Amino acid sequence: MKVLVVGSGGREHALCRALAADPSVTEVLSAPGNPGTGQLGTRIALDPCDGTAVAAAAQRYGVDLVVIGPEAPLVAGVADAVRAAGIACFGPSAAAARIEGSKAFAKDVMTAAGVPTARARICTSGSEAAAALDEFGSPYVVKADGLAAGKGVVVTTDRAEALRHAQHCGRVVVEEFLDGPEASLFVVTDGRDVVPLLPAQDFKRVGDGDTGPNTGGMGAYAPLDWVPPDVVEDVVERIVTPTLSELRARTTPFLGLLYVGLAFTSRGPKVVEFNARFGDPETQAILTLLASPLGELLAAAAGGGLSGVRAVWRSGAAVTVVLAAAGYPGTPRLGDRIDGVDAVTAPAYVLHAGTEWSDGVLRSAGGRVLAVTAAGPTLADARRTVYTEMSKISLPGGHYRQDIALRAVRGEIRVPEYAR
Ligand code: AMP
Repeated sequence: MKVLVVGSGGREHALCRALAADPSVTEVLSAPGNPGTGQLGTRIALDPCDGTAVAAAAQRYGVDLVVIGPEAPLVAGVADAVRAAGIACFGPSAAAARIEGSKAFAKDVMTAAGVPTARARICTSGSEAAAALDEFGSPYVVKADGLAAGKGVVVTTDRAEALRHAQHCGRVVVEEFLDGPEASLFVVTDGRDVVPLLPAQDFKRVGDGDTGPNTGGMGAYAPLDWVPPDVVEDVVERIVTPTLSELRARTTPFLGLLYVGLAFTSRGPKVVEFNARFGDPETQAILTLLASPLGELLAAAAGGGLSGVRAVWRSGAAVTVVLAAAGYPGTPRLGDRIDGVDAVTAPAYVLHAGTEWSDGVLRSAGGRVLAVTAAGPTLADARRTVYTEMSKISLPGGHYRQDIALRAVRGEIRVPEYAR
């Protein structure tokens, strides 16, 4: 099986690496890819949001399965274009990807499906937003309706700031604040049957102790030993299955990776957000622990037959730490020299994201530059290894969080008891 991965980030390098380890996968191509995916197979230069170009490339290279990494190509209908060309594709249609592309649509689906989530109001004017802010009270949560690369959400106790964000964005969802630890649960689905992956936690804020602005994600770890074992089953039953049924009933079945962002509140797990694709950087940690073949799993979902398929996991834990460029999450400085990548040794490894070769030198080419991931018998071991190995890499002005998985290692995260 020849597989083409669309995208160019750390998530796509993680997908390519896991696919390359699957004996049924003979070739892994990436479009446009990055220097890491390029070490695993051919890179195809194209605009990942151009469905015609992706479908044509897949045909030209005789690809059997296309896997779409980022949200923007999904929302732009790239999966539809690939399937229309007769090629199997892992990723939802543009219509189903609205579950991520529009916060208002996602709320509508959740309400119709009876899925537990924050109470919310869709607001299109400053006065509507002001009324909704006062209805739900502080802390205020204001979400831009469209895609915003993880940066469209403001959570604040400052009413004026919340109102400014609402006015700046135009159409927003104002919602109730959900208290409690957060987790990401990914499920691979053919639209009906599901294979849940290991729960993971990501770190969205740029600074230690969850301070500073939101980013695309600064680190992650899996699995979550603080999540009771039956929670995954509970979330599939109360959240995932009704959501998939509702999308089928609307004639927009969801085939691909449904990312369920959860908050464990005292009233049970509630949905913070849905995404329509693998999360970055949770994928880097999760796939490190996957023992069963990824290509077979994604091909089964894309071919409509997940019934009876399951994922098998290695024991232990994995931690991913992202190295970001100077200036990120504002405008990142590009072109800085990266040293020490080759010094990183097993069981840690480097996944590329915003890097490029220039005259034989590896240089930064994006906000999130690369990530180091390590597996270990315990979370504490994995964490120790990842930081030892990260310290071998140098990037002028580069920064990374020092506290990824720290609270979990210290046993400080607790899920409130709730009635099931
Ligand atoms: P989203 O883009 O919807 O995932 O929001 C980004 C982040 O904002 C989430 O991961 C949460 O940390 C936070 N957030 C979003 N919605 C809520 C909410 N209703 N209550 C508390 N925090 C939230």
